[in-house]
Amino acid sequence: MKCGLEIHVQLETDSKLFCDCRTNYQDTPANTNICHVCLNQPGAKPYPTNEKALEGALKIALMLDCKIAKEVTYFMRKHYNYPDLSSGYQRTSIPIGYEGDLNGVRIREVHMEEDPGQYKPDTGTVDFNRSGIPLIEIVTEPDMKSPEEARKFLRELIRVLEYSGNARGEGTMRADVNISLEGGKRVEIKNVNSIKGAYKALKFEMVRQKNLLKRGVEVTQETRAFLEAQMITVSMRLKEEAEDYRYIPDPDLPPMKSDDSQVQGIKEKMPEPPHIKTKRFMEEYHLAEEHAKVLTSELELADTYEDVVKEIEAEFAALWMRDELKRVIYYNKMTFQESEITTSQIVELLQMLQNKEITAKAGKRIIEQLPHSSKSPRFIAEEMGLVGIVNEDEVLNAAKKAIEENPAAVEDYHQGKKASMNFLVGQVMKLTRGKAEPGNTVKILRDLLK
Ligand SMILES: [Zn+2]
Repeated sequence: MKCGLEIHVQLETDSKLFCDCRTNYQDTPANTNICHVCLNQPGAKPYPTNEKALEGALKIALMLDCKIAKEVTYFMRKHYNYPDLSSGYQRTSIPIGYEGDLNGVRIREVHMEEDPGQYKPDTGTVDFNRSGIPLIEIVTEPDMKSPEEARKFLRELIRVLEYSGNARGEGTMRADVNISLEGGKRVEIKNVNSIKGAYKALKFEMVRQKNLLKRGVEVTQETRAFLEAQMITVSMRLKEEAEDYRYIPDPDLPPMKSDDSQVQGIKEKMPEPPHIKTKRFMEEYHLAEEHAKVLTSELELADTYEDVVKEIEAEFAALWMRDELKRVIYYNKMTFQESEITTSQIVELLQMLQNKEITAKAGKRIIEQLPHSSKSPRFIAEEMGLVGIVNEDEVLNAAKKAIEENPAAVEDYHQGKKASMNFLVGQVMKLTRGKAEPGNTVKILRDLLK
């Protein structure tokens, strides 16, 4: 199979693309974030294009390794009739970036669009709060050869969008999925709203087309809708050609030109894209791909890791940050940034572990206390009585005491009951407040019991 994607995601801006209305449409009652421009009332003229939206689109195009259009770019009117589109046309820019790449999938183009309103067929009402919110559309070449590859691509793309800080992520994603099998025709699937949905739609469509071809039935070139609840696709209409949209340049909007200094300025400020960062982490810090991906899953986490390894050995830091730190963040259902854990807290904790001032077990308990805490790990360790791995003498004394106080367990041990050793180790742990190393404790107990 061959699969190409067209992904729309909202750009992060305060105001709409061609007017000053707010973009927080989800928090406001229907039809309150509107004006004559985004309602497209007769004679209403759009304001000049929102500069933050344009800059965000340029940044995302650059992070996807696109070439930036040197010529003048402008908006076209794409005509179609639907209740959510009061003007009868959607403004969509010509490509601002083209010929990009994301992990071997070619990006054909990146352009901007305005979001239409929201039509609710069950009530027959339209909410225009969303009308005019800036969108970015990313179009790939048909380079994905399985539903799994498409899913992998979308996950990586969402990471790029999150890194950019200029897009709203998977929650606002709408994708059109093109799929064709060898010997068949191109089918476009609309209404795909999540990565999981794209994967399921492709799986379903692949099987449907395979069965048609097996029976010698021709696959029709058409547009199909994905029904998320049932995870199936149904025929919508025969595929339109570009001519059906009767594109014309929008005469109300001035043309735009991104000059070299603007592009250079964005390049200097934009973060290293996550897929590039992952590869660099693998080489620079000798990390496995999976581990590098965990550490680059969030820009702030990746940046903190790089600060931490200035003082802590890279592999040791990676182990603690990808396992224990991520576990705590995940458990608390927060991002690393939201946890407010600082580089200095992590460095101090890892140094205490390296210097054997605390056990690994104590380290895990301390890390659980770090989210939203301004306390230093050392302070937490002292507060919880976790400082200091007890010395040999202390373990020896605790072991002697455990043996003395538990004659029944000792008896069981001599009769070959293995579980009693665990019990005695537990007693030593209790006496040393969890600071003894389990392996060493077993050794000491065995020696004493001889
Ligand atoms: Zn408006």
